[in-house]
Amino acid sequence: MRVIDHLIAGYAGGGGGRTGDVFDPNTGQIQATVQLGDQALLDQAVAAALKAQPGWAATNPQRRARVMFNFKALVEQNMDELAHLLSSEHGKVIADSKGDIQRGLEVIEFCCGIPHVLKGEYTQGAGPGIDVYSMRQPLGIGAGITPFNFPGMIPLWMSGVAIATGNAFILKPSERDPSVPVRLGELFLEAGLPEGILQVVHGDKEMVDAILDHPAISAVSFVGSSDIAHYVYRRGVAAGKRVQAMGGAKNHGIVMPDADLDQVVADLSGAAFGSAGERCMALPVVVPVGEKTAIALREKLIPAIAALRVGISTDSEAHYGPVVNAAHKQRVENWIQTGIDEGAELVVDGRGFELQGHEQGFFIGPSLFDHVTPDMQAYKEEIFGPVLQIVRAADFEEAVRLPSDHQYGNGVAIFTRNGHAAREFAARVNVGMVGINVPIPVPVAYHTFGGWKRSAFGDTNQHGMEGVKFWTKVKTITQRWPDGGVGDGANAFVIPTMG
Ligand code: NAD
Repeated sequence: MRVIDHLIAGYAGGGGGRTGDVFDPNTGQIQATVQLGDQALLDQAVAAALKAQPGWAATNPQRRARVMFNFKALVEQNMDELAHLLSSEHGKVIADSKGDIQRGLEVIEFCCGIPHVLKGEYTQGAGPGIDVYSMRQPLGIGAGITPFNFPGMIPLWMSGVAIATGNAFILKPSERDPSVPVRLGELFLEAGLPEGILQVVHGDKEMVDAILDHPAISAVSFVGSSDIAHYVYRRGVAAGKRVQAMGGAKNHGIVMPDADLDQVVADLSGAAFGSAGERCMALPVVVPVGEKTAIALREKLIPAIAALRVGISTDSEAHYGPVVNAAHKQRVENWIQTGIDEGAELVVDGRGFELQGHEQGFFIGPSLFDHVTPDMQAYKEEIFGPVLQIVRAADFEEAVRLPSDHQYGNGVAIFTRNGHAAREFAARVNVGMVGINVPIPVPVAYHTFGGWKRSAFGDTNQHGMEGVKFWTKVKTITQRWPDGGVGDGANAFVIPTMG
């Protein structure tokens, strides 16, 4: 059995503690075990990081950026291998795995420009003979705790910016698909990153708690489900750390009566069912505005859903693959049952789907609910599976209210040909990322990613300038170079002003 081990500078390997199973969701079989680390193991990684970080921080930013350029080239050379590895543990189809890695690489591309971004501010002559300037310095050691659903992109959101800005970074990836994060760590070393600057420690709650409590770790970036995000935020902040903690989602797609319904259905199919719905920017709720829109949309959605092909991750014709494990499959199917029990109409039932030759795989067919209402638990909670819910809205005002009042506020989309309605919606909706005729509005790497409400705890987003702010602290210097004459000391006891 393959063993997935930690990637720590100077570590002899072999773990020795608890282990976890890593499945192949296509077959339902265990394909590897992963070492689950503890406090002692984290101490080893922290010791290596403490040793390496000052030298890395003192390396000029252009040289640090060169490592990013090398890394980008290496990932591109190894894209096929990485995508297959990712698919074999996550279950998403190969093309989607390539997208997962590519979106992470785009953050690395942003990091290639880090010398420019790190330039501080300067004011000459802020007072008589006084100049003021600022610089951004690394925090020291940062940690990232990541979810299973983007094992390429999310580790790179965090590690790219943390490293480029001069920190050492310890990654604790999801124990469900840990191989790609380790390979990315290896490729960083091959790209010239000094040992100890990016390390990977595996584990579950025990390791997460060790990270949150470790006095030498200054900042923690977390992405995962909301209850855990909130817990990580509270515990990390209580320990005096900087914490950003992204959580779950329930994104709505508003369909205005003037929308191009064929385009909407094509967009929705991918956004609701791609990656088996296991995306925090999936679109699992569609809100047609007005009865006519609802009837027409439903009519078009049913055949589009029937045409979806569920297959193994290496099936290039498949639209989506299995979900990550048996427990998650069960959870999604339980939510479908809850929706029925609460009185929603199950129009297409994806339960009981079996793929011939892969009967033990964690496959779920696509499901469609209609007449879902805001009081239902199945609406309020994140399902994170291939389930689309239709929530009918009477008018535009109700359509703005639904996502605005929802506990999650990650992403939202509006489909319309009316620029005024789109503009009004974008300005008023209480959600962090908005798509206008764009179903999955994940911002590009040089902008920033972050939701609102229970979709994110903390105050800075991932990557872009917000990421740079998160991984650095500002130092501001006020300087005076007296010419040797003794100045007027009369006011030395009064707070200096520029008045
Ligand atoms: P998860 O919360 O189960 O796990 C995330 C991380 O937390 C993992 O590394 C895991 O080991 C750790 N963890 C799990 N239980 C823990 C506990 N009790 N104490 C401490 N740490 C614990 O999330 P997941 O199932 O891996 O990922 C899916 C979730 O992530 C969904 O809710 C999805 O919406 C969310 N997500 C959010 C974003 C975003 O940017 N907002 C992006 C991707 C995924």
